[in-house]
Amino acid sequence: MDAHLRARLKDKKRIVIKIGSSSLQHPETGDLDYIRMEVLVRELCDLRNQGKDVVLVSSGAIAAGRKAVHIKDINREHGERHIAVKQACAAIGQARLMMTYQKLFAEYNQVTAQILMTKNTIVDNLNRYNAHNTFTELLRMGVIPIVNENDTIATYEIEIGDNDTLSAVVAALIDADLLILLSDIDGLYTDDPRKNDRAQFVHTVEHIDEKLMEMGKKSTGSNVGTGGMNTKLVAARIATGIGADMVIAGSEDIRIIHRIMDGRDLGTFFCADKNERFDLIDFIEHYND
Ligand code: GLU
Repeated sequence: MDAHLRARLKDKKRIVIKIGSSSLQHPETGDLDYIRMEVLVRELCDLRNQGKDVVLVSSGAIAAGRKAVHIKDINREHGERHIAVKQACAAIGQARLMMTYQKLFAEYNQVTAQILMTKNTIVDNLNRYNAHNTFTELLRMGVIPIVNENDTIATYEIEIGDNDTLSAVVAALIDADLLILLSDIDGLYTDDPRKNDRAQFVHTVEHIDEKLMEMGKKSTGSNVGTGGMNTKLVAARIATGIGADMVIAGSEDIRIIHRIMDGRDLGTFFCADKNERFDLIDFIEHYND
């Protein structure tokens, strides 16, 4: 195993951690899983206590909002109004999500901030400049920014569309050196493990090529969030391209965060592979076209 590659995770200074909707809710009811959220908060506060900069990218706004107004299936129940209903649910749920996070972070005296972004935050020069400055100041203050897409106003013209990609974009914007994607799937497999019992787990990816991207297309994720393995590989391409390492790991036991930071062989590790020609603005401008 590539223990020497994993060992460098201990020294990471600026970490973006993304958690998906399905990891934040109970599958039986769709209600928030407070125990998992609490463990997540403790792990992040402990990283702060080690002096590291921490950013959380959290999904779950639409899922939490939907639950609050008792909607099971937005598309089925609301037909042509589905976009407005989804945006309304995001507005309700984002506030609920932040309220819960702030209560939990307050137990450790940790200040948090909310940052909501769209594609325009990156593509527009002034917006990008402002967002970068805000992140920089927050991190200097020791605050943990909690980021989501601004789903209330984002439709397809300006949305990034999934939080896997968003988290890599944030990592690029703030020059993070590590991105951890926590998901209901424990890493990358050579094929969809639910359909093919010969699918093999991939421990380390040193270089992302087209063959690997094809592998991602075959393997899907949950039906709660937006991202499957494909969006995780897009995120890996961005993160490694800007010179950050990335890990995809299962969120079943959130304490996996400190185990990953200890260099243990968990999840799939993507090595930083800096591509000087990678252009974030150009990439985002054409993503989802
Ligand atoms: N931004 C969406 C939400 O908070 C989730 C997007 C995703 O799961 O990738 O509900």
